[in-house]
Amino acid sequence: MTPLIRFEQVVKTYGKGEAQVVALAGVDLEIQSGEFVAVLGPSGSGKSTTMNILGALDTPTSGHYYFNGIDVGTLSRDERAVFRRDYIGFVFQGFNLLKRTTALENLELPLIYRGVPAAERHPIAMATLERVGLADRHHHTASELSGGQQQRVAIARALARQPRFLLLDEPLSALDPQIRGRLRNELKSLQRRLGITTLMVTHDQAEALAIADRIAVMRAGRLLQIGTPQEIYAAPADPFTGAFVGALNLLPAIAEMQSVRLFDKPLALRHTYAPGTKLIAAIRPECIAVTPGSGAAVTSREFQGAFVRLSLQVQGLPLLADVANTHALATEGAEAAFRLPPDHIRLFAAPEAGAARS
Ligand code: ADP
Ligand code: MG
Repeated sequence: MTPLIRFEQVVKTYGKGEAQVVALAGVDLEIQSGEFVAVLGPSGSGKSTTMNILGALDTPTSGHYYFNGIDVGTLSRDERAVFRRDYIGFVFQGFNLLKRTTALENLELPLIYRGVPAAERHPIAMATLERVGLADRHHHTASELSGGQQQRVAIARALARQPRFLLLDEPLSALDPQIRGRLRNELKSLQRRLGITTLMVTHDQAEALAIADRIAVMRAGRLLQIGTPQEIYAAPADPFTGAFVGALNLLPAIAEMQSVRLFDKPLALRHTYAPGTKLIAAIRPECIAVTPGSGAAVTSREFQGAFVRLSLQVQGLPLLADVANTHALATEGAEAAFRLPPDHIRLFAAPEAGAARS
């Protein structure tokens, strides 16, 4: 299937010479029609730059951005404005609704700016409110609506011109944690129902895991990995990506013939590294089995409700292990045995000593 959106080695730099900032360092990306993609990454990794280019607010310095076959980077300024009007819907942080204005007027206002004739504005706005299930609330002011309803008005406003592509920049970041969880579910089901291709920028890994069809993880202007939430969580392409979507133990290990040496013991684990290669063994805390015995000291415990996160000390190295909150060994100062199931360990080559980092 031809993707709706394709980035081909997109580079974006700002400034010149010594002051030059590389915001995107050659990004390849494909998004299929109807997909919900979350872009996840730390501050400064290039998320907003990616969104601005996708929304034709900005253009690549080099490389190509194809939208449904159109090379958006070659459009003139005026053509880009038309492109945005015809294809793109934006929802920004905090929704930017006019609080004392009705839901209907919140939708009609941008239609006025966009030159939609008066006779068409009301039916378009009403039909769009209908699509998000808010037609019966059209006369309520934004401040009279719940958080979820405000979110739907903001999305409806972005949808009023029937865009092909919805761009959400941290739409839920400004909200209380309690309503965030509920709104992200509403957002997901609305997106599914409308079938609109959507890209959401977030720095909240739980949000990305919960609602996206695929997650794109960015760091320092690069797209490190794109995959389903399950793939990114269980099979991260590198330790950074793995650690970015949840707690992850990164343990020094050394390759042996049919095993790896981990905590000074051989662990049967198939791999293709040459014996002697320095490795990083990555394992999630919930995959570690803690049993009666010795070998690890429980240095602290953190109650998390559904489980307890133990900080273990093993041969001078810290190790996180999640156990059931009914676990008898989960007391500070206790000794325990632990097991690292080979199936849940992922191996990465350790970065060369002195190699450049970013
Ligand atoms: P994110 O949204 O992931 O926080 P951005 O895409 O906003 O990251 O920024 C990526 C990099 O590009 C950062 O180093 C940022 O400082 C830089 N940058 C972004 N916009 C500009 C700009 N208009 N001028 C100069 N540098 C910029
Ligand atoms: Mg940003």
